[in-house]
Order: sequence, then C-alpha cells, then structure tokens
Amino acid sequence: MVFPHLEKVLVEQMLVESGVLRITARTRDEVVLPCPDCRTASRRVHSRYQRRLADAAVGGRPVVIELSVRRLFCDVDGCPRRTFAEQVEGLTIRYGRYTPLLLEMLRAVGLALAGSAGARLLTVLNVVISRVTLLSIVLALPEPVVECPRILGVDEFALKRSRRYGTVLVDVETHRVIDILADCSGDAFAAWLTAHPGAEVICRDRANSFSDGAQRGAPHAQQCADRFHLWQNLGTAAERAAGRLRPGWLPPEREPSATAEVLPDKDEGPLTRRNRERHAAVHALMERGVGLTGIMRELRLDPKTVRRFMRAATIEEILVHGPSGRTGILDAHADYFARRWDEGCSGAHILHAELAAQGIHVSKRTVRRFVHRMREHGAPTPRSLAPTEFFVSSVVVWGGVLVRYG
Ligand SMILES: [Zn+2]
Repeated sequence: MVFPHLEKVLVEQMLVESGVLRITARTRDEVVLPCPDCRTASRRVHSRYQRRLADAAVGGRPVVIELSVRRLFCDVDGCPRRTFAEQVEGLTIRYGRYTPLLLEMLRAVGLALAGSAGARLLTVLNVVISRVTLLSIVLALPEPVVECPRILGVDEFALKRSRRYGTVLVDVETHRVIDILADCSGDAFAAWLTAHPGAEVICRDRANSFSDGAQRGAPHAQQCADRFHLWQNLGTAAERAAGRLRPGWLPPEREPSATAEVLPDKDEGPLTRRNRERHAAVHALMERGVGLTGIMRELRLDPKTVRRFMRAATIEEILVHGPSGRTGILDAHADYFARRWDEGCSGAHILHAELAAQGIHVSKRTVRRFVHRMREHGAPTPRSLAPTEFFVSSVVVWGGVLVRYG
C-alpha cells in the first residue's frame, strides 16, 4: 500500500494542485472510540470538523491531507468530559499539524542538523518549514534519560570562551557525551553524581573542584587523572623547563647581518608622484609664458596650489615641506626591526607587542606593512637560532615523532 497510514480512513479524493498533492479523507462513522477520561466507548457524533495535516512528500511533491474527523459525546454520568475529538492512530496527533511519519522525519533532521541547515535540507526534500519551527520541534522532545556510566569522564566546557564554563560529562567507554552542566563547580558535579549513582571510576583533570565534587557525590568511586590532562601537564612542565634552559643554547653573537642594509627606503607614494608631475607641468607652462590664470585653467588647479608650485624652483622644496615629505613612523626604529629580524623574529604581532611595551604606540597594520616591506626588499628569511620552548616541549612530549624541525 502506498499510504499505509491512510488505511483506517476513507480517501475521497487525490489531486495535484499548484504542485501540491492534496488528499481529502474522512474518518469512518461506524468506528467506536473510548472517551479519554472514563474509557467508555462512544459513537454518538456531536459534529465533524476539518483538520489539515502536512505529510511526507510523495513523488517530489509536498502532501497535504484534508481530514474530516468527528467530535463524539461521552454519555456517562459523572464523567467530567462531555465531548471529545477522535484521533486516528498513525495519522493524527492531538493538536499536531504533521502526520507522525513527517514528524519523525523532522525530528531526525532537526537533531542531526539543527535549525538553518535542517530547514535547507528539508526544502530539498519538498518539506517547507522555518528554522524556528524545526528548532521548536527539537526542543519539544522529551529529555533523554541519563544514566551514569561505569567510567565517567568530567571536564570543563566553554559555554563562552574565557567567560562562562560549564561541565561536560562523558561515558569514557563509548566516548559519548552524556550530560552538560550549566556551571563547573564542585557542588553542581556532586549534586549530579548524587542524582545519578553508579560511577565506579571518575576520570578528571587535577583541579580541586571536580575532585571535591566526586568525593562528596560518589565517595566510593575511584578517581584518576585522565590521559589528556597528564599529557597537558607534562607538556606545560617541559615548556617551562625549556624556557629556563633556552638562554644556554643560544650561540654566540653573529657578525652584523645584511638585514639592516636591505631595510626599505621610504617608498615614493602616489601623492609624491602626483606633486612631481604637477611641478613639471606648471614649470613647463611658465617657460611657455603662460600666466597664473592660464595654468589654473590648463591644469584645473586652484590659485593657491598653482602659486605654491610656481614659487618652488625645484620639486624638493615641495616634497620637504609638503605632507608627502613626512618620515615613516617606524623608520626611526629600523635598527630595532633589523636586530629582531636577525634574532629570528619576523612576526608582526610580536613586534607590535614589543613596540607597545617600549611605549611606541603604532597600529598593528603599520607594523604589518613595515614587515611586509622588509620582506619585499629582500630581507633574508629569519631562522630561529635556538629551538623554541614549544618545539622542545613537543619533542619531550611526543618523542619527536609528530614534530619535525626546520
Ligand atoms: Zn467520559
């Protein structure tokens, strides 16, 4: 049967209208139904009304079922309910606008993809639904029953990084997240363990809050540090030790390098170029005997600008005093850049922070452009003279397998 969920109703009509398959159906008059309160069977009809149900698409067309259902009397004295609406098993849900078939599909898509992505996929599947409606269907699902696993993993979980942390609880054997707590305090963890007994082993970081929470909530469970945090602690300790020892690995001072020589000269910007061209044009016209007004008209310049160019015998007079003659903000610190470059530091963000620490406040963009110009002018690629603390700690932690130097 193509529509098994319509088996219990009488299908009166099926037609395609504006690309939608409309099915008109009605429930059978002879069916006897129990009152939801007193469970007494009734078939005395109070009235009929139309329900409109969205169903899963068929043949690439959305399906709408126009279903006529009965409202029945309950004739039992003492029953608080006088009338009740009939539901068709497998086809209608109380107050629902979707058939159970479509609702299951919407729940599955919503759980897998959530709002926007789910709504986009459903559009392809010929189900028109907004992301908000899809999310409300997911939120209406009952909370899954959480049972405490035998081996429980616990760690902090960033609800908003650096601002708000919760607690994530994981079944270590299946690697599945089983619950999220709104805060990361020992009290919340202890309360959860009390409400969900059964943990035999608790894997945690080495913070006191979870240790304390586990002690109070599951005093008989064995506590251990998890592998990730052991590796992380080892890495941090190795990095700290490497930082202390690093000065001893630095080789003696090198000969002054060629980096300083390739520091960029001040570039001639578009303004300088334009002034140079204007100065030449003004003086060429002056030689031909053209006056102030003629030059203004010819070059479309205002009198003040033309006078300035006429007075300057050479372009240098304009450039030295004009705005384009300014010195780059960082040119005064070129030696510092050259030294740091030789030491292996070419990161604009690091150099920016170092300048700020010295009280030199320039934008990150300015530093980035200066470093970019150094590269363009052929400064040799910097190479660290000694391995970094991070490199050394990586070798210690990972045995040099995962990290290659150079
Ligand atoms: Zn009743």
